[in-house]
Amino acid sequence: MLIDLPANSSSANSLKDHYDIIVVGGGLVGASFALHLQNETGATLSILVVEAVAAGSQDQPSFDARSTALSWSSREFFARAGLWGALDEEATAINDIHVSDQGRFGSASLSHTEHRQEALGYVLENRHLGTVLNTALEESPTIAKLAPAQISQIWPKQSGMELTIDCQDSTHTVSAALVVVAEGGRSPICTQLGIEQQRKSYEQHAIIANIALEKAHNNQAIERFTRSGPLAVLPLSGYTGLNRASLVWTVDAAESEQLMALSDAETVKALNARLGRQAGRVTQIGKRVCYPLTLSVAAEQVRPGLVLLGNVAHTVHPVAGQGFNLALRDTECLVNELVAGQARQESPGSMAVLQRYLDQQTQDQQRVITFTDQLVSLFSSARTHKALIRKLGLLSIDMIPTLRQQLARSAMGV
Ligand SMILES: Cc1cc2nc3c(=O)[nH]c(=O)nc-3n(C[C@H](O)[C@H](O)[C@H](O)COP(=O)(O)OP(=O)(O)OC[C@H]3O[C@@H](n4cnc5c(N)ncnc54)[C@H](O)[C@@H]3O)c2cc1C
Repeated sequence: MLIDLPANSSSANSLKDHYDIIVVGGGLVGASFALHLQNETGATLSILVVEAVAAGSQDQPSFDARSTALSWSSREFFARAGLWGALDEEATAINDIHVSDQGRFGSASLSHTEHRQEALGYVLENRHLGTVLNTALEESPTIAKLAPAQISQIWPKQSGMELTIDCQDSTHTVSAALVVVAEGGRSPICTQLGIEQQRKSYEQHAIIANIALEKAHNNQAIERFTRSGPLAVLPLSGYTGLNRASLVWTVDAAESEQLMALSDAETVKALNARLGRQAGRVTQIGKRVCYPLTLSVAAEQVRPGLVLLGNVAHTVHPVAGQGFNLALRDTECLVNELVAGQARQESPGSMAVLQRYLDQQTQDQQRVITFTDQLVSLFSSARTHKALIRKLGLLSIDMIPTLRQQLARSAMGV
């Protein structure tokens, strides 16, 4: 039975009473998952994406003022999903990465030429990612999208899940063989289903902003470890003659309040004092936005008819730009298992399918969670022994080709 809904901003599809897959959250991860699944299954599965924020709204938390460093494997993901052509129009290649430690001599660098790769990765502004993903969702004849709408209730059925969806002025009950929860770090669905999210606050905030540099970035990304936390400068495409870059400046929670209260000129001065010579001087800074940083890991990621994806499954520190890249590898694996399950006539929500997905991705998830957590701990400490490890680490990365190779492979997500 079809329930007629007024056409919303992003879809004229009517709501059905059952879908094979309902994706809750149409942000970076939810939208990427839905589009890749549709591509791989040739639209043989019915998919509904429920998103809390209207398309094109500036309040969409996933497609905000941040930029995202995409690994080489994420570029391949988007190429397979048929989206890289549109993303590439505004992507800036990362050809080199320079890593240094404030106040110490050790530094390390990685270059794409050593790895015979076109680039180590790419930087994309989240707004552009959002435009490309939302346009693809809107143009899809087979994915239904409901926005703004939220799930007010969810409960397990014998096969799959039943959900109550609150739209602006109506409520609908629908069922799905599989609900993919991609609603970001705070998940009302997990709360309702009693799925715990184990959290650890880093007592750090990331201040992000676009900056202008005195000299051209030459497609180099800079990661600098300072006493209060890591600082990253990612190359961005030029705009009205400016050498633009994206800043992710991690500082203690207390210090972030002081920095956010400074004028632009004072912030530029404070930034130049920490950045070191590699990037050259910062000349301007745009609007600053502050994010509290936590490590959050869901106690369960799969249940019959349910899977958690993206930040709701694991939120990691942005120190190494790994969160979205990991979520795309999860997405790729889940889609592969759903396709394989379809060939075996297994329901998308069957535990056999979901467990096979989780078994394959657990090691990758653990590796990224542990790596980012240890990196934050190692590089945020002023203790002498940790400083020594850092220095030896940075020097040996530069001197030992195999170590450098491993780090580059990790950065490229391969
Ligand atoms: C400062 C910073 C820099 C980062 N840099 C990088 C990087 O360089 N590289 C990288 O790989 N990763 C990076 N990350 C991580 C990356 O941003 C996350 O991995 C990514 O945003 C996760 O996307 P998501 O879709 O899971 O969640 P979100 O981005 O939070 O999106 C959730 C979506 O669900 C919607 N929603 C929420 N609640 C509901 C509901 N109840 N019903 C319906 N919809 C709902 C929201 O409106 C939103 O659209 C960075 C993170 C930070 C904080």
